[in-house]
Parts: sequence; structure tokens; C-alpha cells
Amino acid sequence: MDKLYDITVIKGILGRYGFTFSKGLGQNFLIDPEVCPSIAEYGVPDENYGVIEVGPGIGVLTNELGKAAQKVVAVEIDKRLIPVLGETMSDRKNVKVINDDVMKMDLHKLIEDEFDGMNVAVCANLPYYITSPVIMKLLEEKLPVDCVTVMVQKEAAERICAPAGTRDSGALTIAVRYYAESEMLFEVKADSFMPAPKVDSAVIRLNIRKEPIVTPICEKTFFAVVKASFLQRRKVISNTLASGLNISKSEIMKLLEDIGIPLNARAEQLEMEDFCRLADAVYKFRNK
Ligand code: SAM
Repeated sequence: MDKLYDITVIKGILGRYGFTFSKGLGQNFLIDPEVCPSIAEYGVPDENYGVIEVGPGIGVLTNELGKAAQKVVAVEIDKRLIPVLGETMSDRKNVKVINDDVMKMDLHKLIEDEFDGMNVAVCANLPYYITSPVIMKLLEEKLPVDCVTVMVQKEAAERICAPAGTRDSGALTIAVRYYAESEMLFEVKADSFMPAPKVDSAVIRLNIRKEPIVTPICEKTFFAVVKASFLQRRKVISNTLASGLNISKSEIMKLLEDIGIPLNARAEQLEMEDFCRLADAVYKFRNK
């Protein structure tokens, strides 16, 4: 069904199903006709792709993804929306809707079962309450997907895409950069949604790296070091690391000196290679 961005159409459908928006599930539906075709254009590299959509709502983006891709599997947690999607997607034979919580799903199995031999992309207007967990699940599970194109709160988009050495950069920036190259695509005003959220949004694309940007000895230690480094971002790294990693400050200072990182550096000043060297030094110290 087209015109799923039209407020009158949305109200008509939702009224017939007695649907009321759940704030807790981050239900802000797109009503701007321009946004979904653009997300599909950026998010689906070509018409042979399989696409996983997280949170189709009533299907406004799903419909555009269905036009652009070979097959779409849309995962929606809210069972009240399943009959709605049954109606709105009835003429999109290449769209399959699954009623589940994306955070609990085995996405490797989903890809194996639904997209055998196809290139796969992920597209979504993400529910804001789980933006980072969903993005990190998609990346950490090392799914065989080429890109992840998602709408998130503008502030989250700026944090994720922040260049190294800037104030916006944080643990999430580094974690995402480890797996992907991020691109800020375009902004979307709060009044493009029903109900309108308090803040503006932005669409970003994460192009999954084929080759790692750095290769730490131990990934777990790398992420622990990144997390500890940003725990108290105003403090110098020698202090945050000592408390965050439970290693004495004198040992941390020695490790930093050995690898040539200034003792008064702050986490936001470090590059990926610095975090990798630091993680390797911490790993070797703990396993000597
Ligand atoms: N794609 C629609 C649009 O753009 O209008 C709806 C987007 S709305 C911001 C987020 C959607 O994600 C809602 O339909 C919500 O019910 C669904 N959702 C929330 N948590 C979810 C989860 N854990 N797994 C799957 N879907 C979820």
C-alpha cells in the first residue's frame, strides 16, 4: 500500500485496528514522504539485495525497501502491528514480517534461512530506546551484511560519526569505527514524525569493513580499554584507566610511557591505533 506517510491514511488504518502509540517501544512513525525513498536509495545497494528491517511500524519504510530490494524481512516486536502490516504489505509479495524482539533473535540464522546466497543490508528507523544496543548487536555479531543504514537521534548520529580527536567522539564512536566506516547522510526534522519526538533525527550509514582497521591481540581487552578510557572523559587517561581496569596507577603510567602515549592525554585525543597499542600493552601486562 502506498501513501503510508499520509496522516489521514495512518489515522484511518490505526483507527480501524484500535491502535494507540507505545512510547516505551519508541513508536514515532514517519509522515514525511521524502524520507523513506531516500533511506531505501542509500540503504539498498542494488535490486538483488536482501534487506533486514528493524521495526517496520505500519510499513512506510518497508514499502520503499520492498520496491528497491529483492526481498525484505521486517522484524516487529509489537504484535498489535502484525495484522496492520498484513494489510498494508498485502501487495508486496517480497516482504516477510516476523513478530519478534530483534535483540533476542539469532540474526545469523535469519540470514541463513531467508537470504541464502544474497548480499544483505540492514535498514531501519530505529526505536530510540535501543539505538546503541541494536547497532552494537548488528556489529559485534559480525553478521554477513554489507551496510547498516539507520535513522537515529541527531545527537547519537553525531556521536557515532564523530571524527577522532573531537569532543563528540566517545566509546560508541570507537566501537562503531572498529567494525565500520560511518557516514552522516541527512537530517530529519522532529515534525517529520507522528507523534513528533522532542529532538531531530539523522540518517547514517555504516559500511561494514571487509578488512579490520586495527587488529588487537584480544578484542575483549580492546573494548574494555576503550570503555574504561571514556568512563570519565574530563579526566586524563592515566586516571580513568587505573580505576576502570583495576590496575595500579603506577603500572598504567609505566604502560603508557612504554608505548609513547602522553600521561596527560584524554581519551578523545586518541586514535584507533593508540587504543590498539594500549589494549595490547594491557593484555600483555595481565598475561605475563
Ligand atoms: N519504520 C516505522 C516508521 O519509520 O514509521 C516505525 C519506526 S518506529 C521509530 C520503531 C519501530 O520499532 C516501532 O514499530 C516499534 O514497535 C519497533 N520496535 C521497538 N522495539 C523493537 C524491538 N526490540 N524489536 C523489533 N522492533 C522493535
